[in-house]
Amino acid sequence: MRLRNITGSREVIAESPYVVQEAVQPECPGAWRNIFGNENPIHIEIGMGKGKFIHTMAKEHPRVNYVGIEKYSSVLLRAVQKMEREELANLKFLRMDAEDITSVFGPGEVDRIYLNFSDPWPKDRHAKRRLPSREFLARYDVILKEDGRLEFKTDDRELFDFAVRELEPAGWIAEVISYDLHRDRELMQGNVMTEYEEKFSAMGNPICKYVIFRQRKCPAERARS
Ligand code: SAM
Repeated sequence: MRLRNITGSREVIAESPYVVQEAVQPECPGAWRNIFGNENPIHIEIGMGKGKFIHTMAKEHPRVNYVGIEKYSSVLLRAVQKMEREELANLKFLRMDAEDITSVFGPGEVDRIYLNFSDPWPKDRHAKRRLPSREFLARYDVILKEDGRLEFKTDDRELFDFAVRELEPAGWIAEVISYDLHRDRELMQGNVMTEYEEKFSAMGNPICKYVIFRQRKCPAERARS
């Protein structure tokens, strides 16, 4: 995502009621049910950009609580402005680096994680910064519920192939892998397009998607460890 520093974005975010502020973040693990005031499942999008996907999802699924996570204030600002135009009670934002995700969600607190068009970090030495890398999968493993799912979409075939290769060593299993999501009628049911998905699919790029879950140890193995 091309970043343009928008003057005043930090200040707007620091005062926004839609953003869970940095000072409050240490109190978040285990407290998301209180933050939303209900027991509904929690779905998060990491690297949400301007928030089109998560805002639409929250509107379409009012019985799910959504948390959108974005590293940069200038980008998050656009999602906050969308909320100012159309407020949703089941959507909150966090401005943070997802490297620290385990400090804001408690073990098993999240029901679903979405990664959409994550930054590719093409250099090998930056592989661990890629959001579907095994380093991040280990973090997701902590916060995801036992039967939780992670969904990843991208048009970047190299990044997707890397992400698929990361699954087995990290102990995850693919439920679905598609190399052309938009031609898969079943998978397209309920598909909400992200900003990047609209742009790159309009250019004719096939969109890849996987849905994965964590391989849990069988009870005997658990007893041994
Ligand atoms: N998901 C959106 C979409 O599909 O249109 C935006 C995709 S954009 C390529 C990736 C976004 O992820 C950027 O806004 C970037 O700032 C954010 N991002 C990248 N790494 C991140 C991290 N470690 N923590 C939080 N956000 C991150």
